[in-house]
Amino acid sequence: MPVRTRVAVIGAGPAGLLLSHLLDRCGIESVVIDSRTREQIETTIRAGILEQGTVEVLAETGASDRVLTAGQKHEGIELRFGGEGHRIDFTDTVGRAVWLYPQHEVLKDLVAARLAAGQDLRFGVTAERVEDAGTDRPRVLARDAEGYAIEIEADVVVGADGSRSVAREAVTGAYGGYFREYPFAWFGILCEAPPSAGELIYGNSPDGFALISQRSPDVQRMYFQCDPDTDTEAYDEGQLWEMLQARVPGTTLHEGPIFQRDVLRFRSFVAHEMRRGRVVLVGDAAHTVPPTGAKGMNLAVADVVLLTDALRALLLDRDETLFDSFAETARQRIWKAQHFSWWMTSLLHVQPGASDFDRMRQLGELRTVVESRAGSTYLAEAYTGWPLPGTGHH
Ligand SMILES: Cc1cc2nc3c(=O)[nH]c(=O)nc-3n(C[C@H](O)[C@H](O)[C@H](O)COP(=O)(O)OP(=O)(O)OC[C@H]3O[C@@H](n4cnc5c(N)ncnc54)[C@H](O)[C@@H]3O)c2cc1C
Repeated sequence: MPVRTRVAVIGAGPAGLLLSHLLDRCGIESVVIDSRTREQIETTIRAGILEQGTVEVLAETGASDRVLTAGQKHEGIELRFGGEGHRIDFTDTVGRAVWLYPQHEVLKDLVAARLAAGQDLRFGVTAERVEDAGTDRPRVLARDAEGYAIEIEADVVVGADGSRSVAREAVTGAYGGYFREYPFAWFGILCEAPPSAGELIYGNSPDGFALISQRSPDVQRMYFQCDPDTDTEAYDEGQLWEMLQARVPGTTLHEGPIFQRDVLRFRSFVAHEMRRGRVVLVGDAAHTVPPTGAKGMNLAVADVVLLTDALRALLLDRDETLFDSFAETARQRIWKAQHFSWWMTSLLHVQPGASDFDRMRQLGELRTVVESRAGSTYLAEAYTGWPLPGTGHH
């Protein structure tokens, strides 16, 4: 017997869990499945920076109380180049801020909230494909951890299943999208050390980019630009600290044991379509950005806020207007975020094979941003996030 629900959500990442939370608040029932275990979901280290609008949505809808108590408000970032730091002051330029609150903490809060509300949230269940997108009863064909088939029939199926989405095939074909690859990646480390700075440092140096960020009083997250094929074991700890330190000259990093390393490849992707019939894509399933502008999780939240309004109108008021315009409206923000993520990446990284001209031009661009109020204001406005549509969450 198929499971029947109003909205079937594939993926218990930030997009899928927040969507089911917001739908519940409107009285719309959903079933959420995820191929991973609860423990895997709650311990995978990914994003860390939340836009002001994301924090407001989480706090005001009861999805997370801890974001305001355990999260750290950051009112600026430092751009460091030519051996000097230049602070971009978000409060002064745009009166907004971001919060440092790791994605897995957001997920812990959302999972706890969904389970407390009696949500049908199934871990270890993998969607294999989505069928009947063109009808008003689309279906998810899935399999649980023991290999038993599960069929979920819904009014709407939402693919919130990340960058390797299976739902995408039902909407746009496996690779139907705008795509860009970058000739570099980030080598990321987690270390046990006190913070090296109060706010994030984005460093540009002749050796390449580095990001000095924080996780907690005892654990720090740092990245430096590397070749996409770099092996995570290619360097010993001393070499890693030397490379990080060389990319943020003028600062003194607080070193400590490195307990996790990863290489994060860069891609920009936007699916050609976000909806086909009653199947919709949100979050990384619909788009991915390079991590430099910290937009990925925030963009997933923005999609979901917009889709909640569209589904409320469709399923409760039988008004299809917002559902029909959802993709077009979402794309406006998505392309602004794509541009910002690409721009921050180009501004700060050293392109392989860059000439002396390219290097001097890049320093000129960095100076333009930090010395011009208009330039700093653009960065601050985009980094802290444009207002979310139609919700009053600004
Ligand atoms: C190292 C790193 C650092 C990042 N830093 C930032 C940052 O600072 N700020 C920011 O905003 N973004 C950042 N991002 C991006 C951010 O993490 C993603 O954009 C965000 O997770 C997208 O959320 P999502 O819910 O769309 O997808 P995901 O978080 O990928 O969730 C998708 C879920 O779907 C599940 N799933 C997949 N396939 C199936 C299937 N077939 N059946 C069932 N379940 C399935 C997966 O298990 C997963 O739980 C970072 C990403 C990485 C990797």
